Amino acid sequence: MARGARRPRSPFRASLEPLCSLQISWRPGRTGMGMLTDIQRGQSLLEASQSLDGLELIAIASRLFQEGDPHGFEETVSALSFLAARKQQQGLLAAVWHMLDLAGWLGNLFHCWQCGDEVAGSMSWQHGHLLCENCLQDGGNRMPVSAGLRKSIAGVLEGCNIQLSVENVSTWREIIRLVLKEHGLKATDSFKAQY
Ligand SMILES: [Zn+2]
Repeated sequence: MARGARRPRSPFRASLEPLCSLQISWRPGRTGMGMLTDIQRGQSLLEASQSLDGLELIAIASRLFQEGDPHGFEETVSALSFLAARKQQQGLLAAVWHMLDLAGWLGNLFHCWQCGDEVAGSMSWQHGHLLCENCLQDGGNRMPVSAGLRKSIAGVLEGCNIQLSVENVSTWREIIRLVLKEHGLKATDSFKAQY
């Protein structure tokens, strides 16, 4: 708890900027919540042009890792540095993908997430999984995911300077939206259904 932090003359007010590293001191509380006593503001974690993406990443992280979960801090820091290193349009997609992967929600891009077979050709997205032709179920929505898109995603994740086509960006965004939905997480602005 940061007592008085919203007051105009609070020393905390200027230091509690979002998306900066902070070194904080606090007094532990008897009932659990500590009381903030000092803040040293460190570096900004992202460039100003990436602030909106950063806030969206934090919003997803706060749903992914619940209060009291021992996981979350390192995963979120890692995803933020992932975003900082990728300034193209697909930076947020790569950072969210990286974070979902660290949370254990994703599989390998070149293997069927059900049978584990390696697939060189086209795969499909169905019920929150990337599947080979044999594992697809009849009925239910499916979305084709080309070998080219999977290679491009893998390249962006590795840090290669690849510019995805508009169509591939929208397929990747839709896949992430469906992963979030599959796990009951509310979509953020960038991951809303586009119809
Ligand atoms: Zn399969």
